[in-house]
Amino acid sequence: MPNFNLKYNNDNISIDANINQYIAKLELLNEPCHLKHAPEYMNIKIPLAVDYLCQYLGFNKSHNTTESIRIPICKECLKGLYDKNWVLVYCITCNSSQWIWKPNTFIEFNTDVIWLDKCPKCKEEK
Ligand SMILES: [Zn+2]
Ligand SMILES: [Zn+2]
Repeated sequence: MPNFNLKYNNDNISIDANINQYIAKLELLNEPCHLKHAPEYMNIKIPLAVDYLCQYLGFNKSHNTTESIRIPICKECLKGLYDKNWVLVYCITCNSSQWIWKPNTFIEFNTDVIWLDKCPKCKEEK
């Protein structure tokens, strides 16, 4: 987290934990959505992010959370995450993502986001 120098005209403003989240959202100004929208060749305009998708990463055995990732996402993707028909696959190594339309697959998903350590794309690049 960067350090913020907050200056208020009014000293009575109380700062609670929510302000960190609020500032984090302000940082999103002009930040494009980091999730996949269309194949790269289509060259579409990526919508601006409105929120973060957060995930804590840890070692399975110790249950310690060692790291967290914060992915800027747009309104459209936020809606997709709440839509039970979509599942998001996200690779934490190369930050690539892919949406899967559940009715088109025969796989039973019991989660809305699948976090991958490595994906086919990472393997190609090595
Ligand atoms: Zn998006
Ligand atoms: Zn990858």
